[in-house]
Amino acid sequence: MNLAAVVQEANASIGQDYCAEVCGAKCCMRGYVFFKPEYVNLITQGQPGLVSRTHRGWSQLSNELHGCPSLSEDNSCMIHDEEGRPPCCIYFPLKLVYDEGKPIVIVQRCDAVNAKMIDEYLDKLRDAGAELTIR
Ligand code: SF4
Ligand code: SF4
Repeated sequence: MNLAAVVQEANASIGQDYCAEVCGAKCCMRGYVFFKPEYVNLITQGQPGLVSRTHRGWSQLSNELHGCPSLSEDNSCMIHDEEGRPPCCIYFPLKLVYDEGKPIVIVQRCDAVNAKMIDEYLDKLRDAGAELTIR
């Protein structure tokens, strides 16, 4: 299986119900997601001034916002089906940096990672060529 397919499978294994109901969408609530400037308008619902942190060309929402502007009251993402959604929103807690090689950062503060829900995919990701960092 190629790397993209393993990444998608690992991400899908967490599931929307777990994210919305068990975790409470912490990654969207607390600004864990980072994205390139071209996604700012989409993710902020046209309010680019809400991006208060940038690092090495990446933007993050402030964790003082009480949630991403695209997060619905039921903890679902309003732009989930938008073509052009930021990769980090699609693949979190696997942060991909395809255009810089094949490193993948597994975000440890994700509840699903802490609950070892993607452990079974770690070897598969490595076998598919990923360099994994868990932090
Ligand atoms: S932090 Fe992890 S478990 Fe929680 S909503 Fe985000 S991806 Fe899902
Ligand atoms: S755009 Fe959607 S997935 Fe991305 S941080 Fe906002 S609510 Fe979460």
